[in-house]
Amino acid sequence: MDNSVFNKEKILNILKGILEDDQIVNINNFSQEILIDIIPPNPTHKAKTELSNKIIELLRSGYSSDFNYKIDFKPIPKNIESDQLKNLSNIKNIIAISSAKGGVGKSTITSNIAVTLCNMGFKVGILDADIYGPSMHIMFDLVGRKPLAVDVNGKSKMKPLESFGIKVLSIGFFTKMDQAVIWRGPMATKALNQLIFDAEWGDLDFMLIDLPPGTGDIHLSIMQKISVNGAVVVSTPQIVALADARKGVSMYRQENINIPILGIVENMSYYIPDSKTQEKHYIFGKDGAKNMALDFDIPFLGEVPILQGLREAGDVGRPGALQEDDNVRQIFSEMTKKLVQFLLERNKNLPPTEILKIKTMAGCS
Ligand code: ADP
Repeated sequence: MDNSVFNKEKILNILKGILEDDQIVNINNFSQEILIDIIPPNPTHKAKTELSNKIIELLRSGYSSDFNYKIDFKPIPKNIESDQLKNLSNIKNIIAISSAKGGVGKSTITSNIAVTLCNMGFKVGILDADIYGPSMHIMFDLVGRKPLAVDVNGKSKMKPLESFGIKVLSIGFFTKMDQAVIWRGPMATKALNQLIFDAEWGDLDFMLIDLPPGTGDIHLSIMQKISVNGAVVVSTPQIVALADARKGVSMYRQENINIPILGIVENMSYYIPDSKTQEKHYIFGKDGAKNMALDFDIPFLGEVPILQGLREAGDVGRPGALQEDDNVRQIFSEMTKKLVQFLLERNKNLPPTEILKIKTMAGCS
């Protein structure tokens, strides 16, 4: 094929490797110039420049170096956004739980806050958006289960699975246990969109979103599409974890993202090897995340020690805060009360989200 001639189909095929169909708005040719209009998956200047360079490089090598390529970034169309958002209108509060680093206990904290909220009488759902390392299906004893399809006004929707009173949707329901999820950006975003928008979540007081570690496209894609009330950042007190957590805080505070951070949780704060002496060993350093919260003027939600019981509870699929261990219950109860308090304050200042009403106790176990 003569690639010195404009061929829209071929260009589209090349771009589909890195963009979703609906992100490619227009491809036009004027003489030696090819103009491509795109809705960026990530609106930051840095990400747009990187994407633009990548597209030009791909087209030069995979299509033709005879043309000048010009990439123009378009805003997200409002009608698409609001149509999708209608699906989430029964969800009162959406909280993103993130950690800039993997393995610091973000999912453990998410699952335990969820069951504690449920014990306080709230209706709670978890969206496991940790698309490359989902774990909510394990932590809620839902391995091997698949969500059913239900008919909602003539449309087929996924019904979240329920465990201990919590509605859960996770990409882990659709992959095998030992199967690594190797998806390129657009595929991952598409799968996530289905979990969010093609699901029948019903009425929820809280949706907790367990984000993947880092500050990548998945985070921005979620924040662009749904109105997140606030974020919680989880970190260990370790210097390397804190360095990454600072990046997470900066992401939420970027001008074009601007999501209030409801608080920082310090996980794996210390270990008590001897229950008699109760001496605390600060394995990952002392007060690192607490000090970071002070530095950034962000509420500190609490510290969670290294507890064998908490790890075991996660592994058997029954979050620790549900067990009869007063210590674990107490830690998460205090943390969750603070979280709700900061959320209430935040909702008071920013109108669209309905102000929460704390209800009477209900059982979730
Ligand atoms: P992330 O979601 O950040 O990748 P996880 O919640 O999956 O992290 O936790 C990683 C591992 O550490 C899991 O095996 C979990 O059970 C364990 N873990 C997390 N927090 C604690 C804790 N406070 N005490 C003991 N084990 C913990």
